[in-house]
Amino acid sequence: MNYLVCEECGRNEGIELHHIIFKSQSPCMANIEINFKYLCYKCHRGNDGPHLNRVKDLEYKYRLQNKLFEKFSSKAYYTEEEIRKLLKISKGEASKILKKLKVYKEGYCKIELIQRLMGGRIYAK
Ligand SMILES: [Zn+2]
Ligand SMILES: [Zn+2]
Repeated sequence: MNYLVCEECGRNEGIELHHIIFKSQSPCMANIEINFKYLCYKCHRGNDGPHLNRVKDLEYKYRLQNKLFEKFSSKAYYTEEEIRKLLKISKGEASKILKKLKVYKEGYCKIELIQRLMGGRIYAK
């Protein structure tokens, strides 16, 4: 059995898919698993959820950003293949992300990549 539970409260009914980086902030993150968070209706749409609570929204975003920096921690530039592997994404998804990024001799710049994934900005604590 494969059922979803709320990542905040553990409830297993009415689970919704939240995009940590909203589709409006970065459409290229709409199908990327690392951007997914499963929440029940209350934890998603309620007063303490990321859509009504800015602190919660930012908390999720910082956590995602940290995860990305951890994934891409070994060097400054990555090839398309390495990016696809690290993010576990298809060629099509990768090209949506990478088409707007500059390609350097060494590959794609990690900071530019993470900034793109985060919706065009790096979040500072
Ligand atoms: Zn919940
Ligand atoms: Zn949501």
